[in-house]
Amino acid sequence: MNKELFVEEVKKLGIILNEEQLKKLEIYCNYLIEYNEHTNLTAIKEPEQIYLKHFYDSITIVKAIDFNKVNNLIDIGTGAGFPGMIVKILFPEIEVTLLDSNNKKIAFLQELTMKLGLKKVNFYHGRAEDFCVKNREKFDVVTARAVCNMTLLSELCLPLTKVGGYYIALKGSNEEEIDDSLYAIKVLGGEIEEKITFELPIENSGRNILKIKKSVNTPKEYPRRYDKMVKNPLKKNGK
Ligand code: SAH
Repeated sequence: MNKELFVEEVKKLGIILNEEQLKKLEIYCNYLIEYNEHTNLTAIKEPEQIYLKHFYDSITIVKAIDFNKVNNLIDIGTGAGFPGMIVKILFPEIEVTLLDSNNKKIAFLQELTMKLGLKKVNFYHGRAEDFCVKNREKFDVVTARAVCNMTLLSELCLPLTKVGGYYIALKGSNEEEIDDSLYAIKVLGGEIEEKITFELPIENSGRNILKIKKSVNTPKEYPRRYDKMVKNPLKKNGK
C-alpha cells in the first residue's frame, strides 16, 4: 500500500491524518526497518507492507470505538507497537500503556517514543497476567492483535478492563476460535457488543474486530497462571 492509497483508505475510516502524524508514521516505518536489521521485531520488512499490514490494519480499530472519548488504554502483547503505538500517534491525548513480555520490543518502543517526542506513554516489560495483580480493572480500553487465541486472550484482557470499558480484539477470519471463546468472555464479565467483519484492502484477507463490553467485575480467581490457562482453558465442561 503506497502512501497515497494509505491516506485515502484511512480517510474512508473517518480519519484525516495531518502532516505531523504522517511524518511520525514515516519515522516509525524507517526506524522499524532499521532496528529490524539487528533485532527481530517483525517479519514484515517492506515499507508498503508495513503501511498495509501494520499501520492500516491497526487503524481499522477506529471502526469499533470513538477514541476521542477514551482516557487510558493498554495494548497487550504490543510487539513492535500494534495497534497501541498507532492509536497513540492518532490520538495523542490518550494515556497509552504498551505491554509485552519481550524486552527487545519494549526497548525498541521506548526509543521510538523518544524519537517521536510522545508524552504519556507507559511501558511494561512482563506478562499480562502478572501486570494484572496491581492493575486490575484500571483501563477504559484494552486492545490486542495477534497475541494468542480468543479464549486465552480474554482471560488476559478482561481482568484489566474497567467495568463499563471495552476490550477490543483484532482478529483474523477464524470464526470457530471466536465461537469457542463465548463462554470465557461471559465468565470473565464481558459481553460481545459488536463483531465487525471486513477485508483488508489489496490482499483481501478476512478480519474480525470484536468489541467486548465489560459489563460486570471479573471473578477474583482470573487471570490464572499462564500454564493453567493453557492446560485448562475456560470452556464449557472444560473442553
Ligand atoms: N500485537 C503485535 C505483536 C503480536 S506478536 C502485532 O500485532 O504485530 C505477539 C506478542 O505478544 C509477542 O511480542 C509476545 O512477546 C507477546 N505476548 C504473548 N503472550 C503474552 C503475555 N501473556 N503477556 C505479555 N506479552 C505477551
